[in-house]
Amino acid sequence: MLDEDDHRYLGQRLDLFHLQEEAPGMVFWHPRGFTLYRLLEEAVRRQMVRDGYREVRTPQILRQAIWKASGHWDSFSSNMFRLAEDEHAAAVKPVSCPGHMQLVSRMVPSYRDLPLRIGEFGLVHRDEPSGTLHGLFRLRQFTQDDGHIFCLEEQIEGEVVRFASALRDFYAGFGFQEMIVGFSTRPEGRVGSDAVWDRAEAALSAAARSAGLDCRMQPGEGAFYGPKLEFVLRDRLGRQWQCGTIQLDLVLPERFDITYVDSSGARRRPAMLHRALFGSVERFLGILLEHYRGALPPWLSPEQVVVVPVTDAQRPYAEEILQLLRQKGVRAILDAGDDSLSRKIAIAHEAAIPLVAIAGKREVERRAVALRERDGGHQRELPLEEAVAEVARRCAPHA
Ligand code: ZN
Repeated sequence: MLDEDDHRYLGQRLDLFHLQEEAPGMVFWHPRGFTLYRLLEEAVRRQMVRDGYREVRTPQILRQAIWKASGHWDSFSSNMFRLAEDEHAAAVKPVSCPGHMQLVSRMVPSYRDLPLRIGEFGLVHRDEPSGTLHGLFRLRQFTQDDGHIFCLEEQIEGEVVRFASALRDFYAGFGFQEMIVGFSTRPEGRVGSDAVWDRAEAALSAAARSAGLDCRMQPGEGAFYGPKLEFVLRDRLGRQWQCGTIQLDLVLPERFDITYVDSSGARRRPAMLHRALFGSVERFLGILLEHYRGALPPWLSPEQVVVVPVTDAQRPYAEEILQLLRQKGVRAILDAGDDSLSRKIAIAHEAAIPLVAIAGKREVERRAVALRERDGGHQRELPLEEAVAEVARRCAPHA
């Protein structure tokens, strides 16, 4: 029996998604849940536009040579789904970075094009032991909001500062005010020389200082290719969730022979940063569901408002309200069923819909709407246009 605040229970109760044993660790999204998933994706896309990223997509399966070059074939092999592809050993991607390297190695950007920022909603697969799988928190298939920045070494600091400050606002939009930062240094199993690691750790630590980040040290917890900053959220219950990350990598550009052309026409090696805001879109959604106990704020609700005519006589007016709301981009639905008003309100409440717009006889006469809040059951009457504007304002994206 799951706790009623558990996202797996909420996923079922709110009809968002399910998991089943024929696809362990992989999500079947229901329409409401996929709306929510898309909302998170859209929030990242808006941030990518603000930060000057261009979106790309790279193959799901790559041959061994690429995973050998990236180091994953040797350092990450137990987590990869391997397969044979035209008699070549290959693997389903557990990360998108090596795919992005293929793009940038063909671009050979000019120094004027740096920093070059690319991002992908990378559908990744990792062969996690079945005993460790846990709802949306630990999956075998999930979407990484993966991005890579290729830049000059002197641009690292600016990029880290920019990322960290945008991330604070981004998380605040979702209702997480507190951000804890961890600084993870070279792990035991790693690629790259000590000299390269010295340089990478020094550069990232200087960047963190200049971003004003107060970091807790996490020795030995870096990625096998570079040190990283990890951004941790604290939820309603005080639990900590590592979500965002930015990692400095001086190794992969070398291994994939990535170059840019400097002002004298010579080819040089850029630095590379790996970054993610959510880490896993699915996991972040699980965190949000538990943080809000399923009662998501209006901008994150699959349906934001339900329009309810009190009797059939008010149905045409209710449909007019519905259309006006939809024209404003509000995710509105109509409940014109035979249930009583109080029953319809209860149904909306159970579905965690934040707003109910009621159209009764009195509202039709006055061209008004009675707006009822999910939280607290507060109700007030507003003129139609004002009500539509108010709902649209309350439902607009916060991140
Ligand atoms: Zn990466």
